Amino acid sequence: MGDEKVKMEAMEIMAMFEVLPRLVVFDLDYTLWPFYCECRSKREMPSLYPHAKGILYACKDKGIDVAIASRSPTVDIAKTFLDKLDIRSMFVALEIFSSWTHKTEHFQRINWRTGVPYNSMIFFDDEDRNIEAVSKMGVTSILVGNGVTLGALRQGLMKFSQSSGSSSKSKKK
Ligand SMILES: [Mg+2]
Repeated sequence: MGDEKVKMEAMEIMAMFEVLPRLVVFDLDYTLWPFYCECRSKREMPSLYPHAKGILYACKDKGIDVAIASRSPTVDIAKTFLDKLDIRSMFVALEIFSSWTHKTEHFQRINWRTGVPYNSMIFFDDEDRNIEAVSKMGVTSILVGNGVTLGALRQGLMKFSQSSGSSSKSKKK
């Protein structure tokens, strides 16, 4: 399925929900791309998981901001890869640094940078401990098994709308 097709399907999924997040935050390694970027060379040409780009484009089209929260120790490689994939400019925040915390610090910075409250965010990551720590902050957090997919997006939006409840029909932004 090409990027455009994924994007259209993602838009259809989003249209099913009355309440949408203001910000979607992605991990990098094994969430947006299928490798640890610290194990790669900057000279290589990286590739994303098949649904990743289409989902990013759909978020943009819907007016939902996107950000990165990664504990990668090699910020230079991560940023070079985002440039090579031509998606770096899409993100309103790039928090890429190794830390002892399981991304709580990353989310504090994202919150400070964007002003978006935790309960208006969705987070995708492949590690249990990150999901656990960040969901305690009030962020709707989804564990992905094989990178971010349309299925994970649907699951995230479903969980988000359930936790938002019927009381908050406030329009995003
Ligand atoms: Mg990861």
